[in-house]
Amino acid sequence: MEFEPVIGLEVHAQLLTKSKIFCSCSTKYGAAPNSNTCPVCLGLPGALPVLNREAVAMAVKASLALGCRLNLKSIFARKNYFYPDLPKGYQISQYDCPVAEDGEVELELSGLENGISKFKKFRINRLHLEDDAGKSIHVPGGDTRVNLNRTGVPLAEIVTEADFRSSNEAYAFLSYLRRVLLYLEVCDGNMDEGSLRCDANISVRPLGDSTFGTKTEIKNLNSFRFLRKALDYEIERQIGAVRKGKRIEQETRLWDEASQTTMTMRSKEEAHDYRYFPEPDLLPVVIPEEWLDELRNEIPELPEARKQRFIAQFGLDKESALLLTQSRAFADYFEEAVSHCRRPVAISNWMSGDLTRDLKRDNLDIRECPVSPENLAELVKLVDKGTISGKIAKDVFSKMFESGDEPGQIVSREGLKQISSADQLTEIVTAVLEANSDKVTAYRNGKLGLIGFFVGQVMRETKGQANPKLVNQLLGERLGSE
Ligand SMILES: [Zn+2]
Repeated sequence: MEFEPVIGLEVHAQLLTKSKIFCSCSTKYGAAPNSNTCPVCLGLPGALPVLNREAVAMAVKASLALGCRLNLKSIFARKNYFYPDLPKGYQISQYDCPVAEDGEVELELSGLENGISKFKKFRINRLHLEDDAGKSIHVPGGDTRVNLNRTGVPLAEIVTEADFRSSNEAYAFLSYLRRVLLYLEVCDGNMDEGSLRCDANISVRPLGDSTFGTKTEIKNLNSFRFLRKALDYEIERQIGAVRKGKRIEQETRLWDEASQTTMTMRSKEEAHDYRYFPEPDLLPVVIPEEWLDELRNEIPELPEARKQRFIAQFGLDKESALLLTQSRAFADYFEEAVSHCRRPVAISNWMSGDLTRDLKRDNLDIRECPVSPENLAELVKLVDKGTISGKIAKDVFSKMFESGDEPGQIVSREGLKQISSADQLTEIVTAVLEANSDKVTAYRNGKLGLIGFFVGQVMRETKGQANPKLVNQLLGERLGSE
C-alpha cells in the first residue's frame, strides 16, 4: 500500500519594528541581557500595554501579500500558560478574530517531479499578531538564566492548511514565505537568530484516502535543512509504524540534529490548556479603509510575479530568475545593471557567480555591495568590446569589489588591456614554438591535443592578456605551415 504525508506549517515571523509590540522598548538583537525591558514587557502589576501601529501595518501588508481576507476589526486574547520566560503568565495573542484569514498562494514547484514544473496552490488558514516570550539559556552546570529582551517583540504567526504532500512542497512554501516577508521589509528572515521559526504538523494516510491520520507536531525546525530532514524522517517513521500495525500517538516531537531523528517532547496528556480569553487591557484593532488603501499601495511586485516577469522579459532560465528574485534589493540591482547594458544573461551570471561569492565572503548585503550596478554593466561592456578577456575580467571584478573603482580605471591603471595586436602576438607565438620544438614535431606527427598546451604557454607569457581567438588563429597558421 502506498502512503502520502499530509503536512501543515506554523510559522512565527518577528516583525521588523523598532520598538516592541506593547511598549517602547527597543527590539534590537544582541543587546546586553535584560537591558531592553520595562514594566510592561516585564509583566509588572499595573503596567498597561499600548499597541504599536507599525506592527499592525506590517501584519496587514503580509496578510495582503499572502492573499488573505482581512478582518477590519480584530481582537487580542490572553493565552495562559506558565513558563519562566513568560513573566506576565500569559501571551497576548489573537484567537477568535485574527488580523486575517483564508489566504492562498500559488507556487511554481520546478523540477520536483522529473524536472517538469507544476503550479500548486497552498492555502493559509490565518495570520495573527502576538508578543514573543523571552529566552531561557541553559548554562553548563545546570543553571538556567532568562533573557527578557525578546519578551514583547511583535510576531506574526502564519498558519497554513495541511496542503503539503512532501517535504519539498513545505520547503518551497517556507522559502517563498521568507522571500515575501523580505520583499515587504517586515521581517529579516534570519532563521539563525530566530526571527523566522517554523513548526510542522504531520500525519500520513493511504494514498487516495481523504480522511486524516493522527498527526504529530514537530518543533525546533530552525533552518531550511532541518525542516526537510525532520519531515523526511517523520514521514518514514510514521509510515513504518503504520505498516507494522502500530498506532501513531498524538504528541509534540523535537528535531534532534545530533541523532538525526525526531524525539517525543510531550504527549497529548501533557498538552497545554491555554484558557484563552479576551485581553481586557487592549481595545479591538480597527483598520480604517483609508489606511488599508495606503498599506495596499506600499506592497511591491511580489517575488513569484517578478520571477515570472524576469523569465518572460529577459529570457532567463527559471533557476537564474529564482536566484535573482531572492530579495527585492538583489532583483533591483539586476534591473538597474540591465538598464545600463542590455545583456541580462551575462549580468545574471556575474551576480550568481563572483558577486554572490564575494558578498558571502565579506558577509555583506547586496545593498552594501562595493560594485555598483552601473560598474558591473561597464565590466560586461568591456568584455563585449574585446577590451579585456573574460579571464582578466574576473581579476578586474575582484579589484572592483576591493576598491569600488570603475572597471575602466582598473584596466588602464594596471595595464590589463587585451593584446589584440597580431605583430605583438606573433612574436610571442614564435618564441613559444621555438622553445618547444619537440612538442611542435609531436603535434605535426598527429598529437593535435597539444594545441591546448601552446595556447596555455602564450597565455602565461602574456599574463592572460592575449586575445584567445587571435592566439588560436596564429598558432593554427604557424603549426600548419613549414
Ligand atoms: Zn518594554
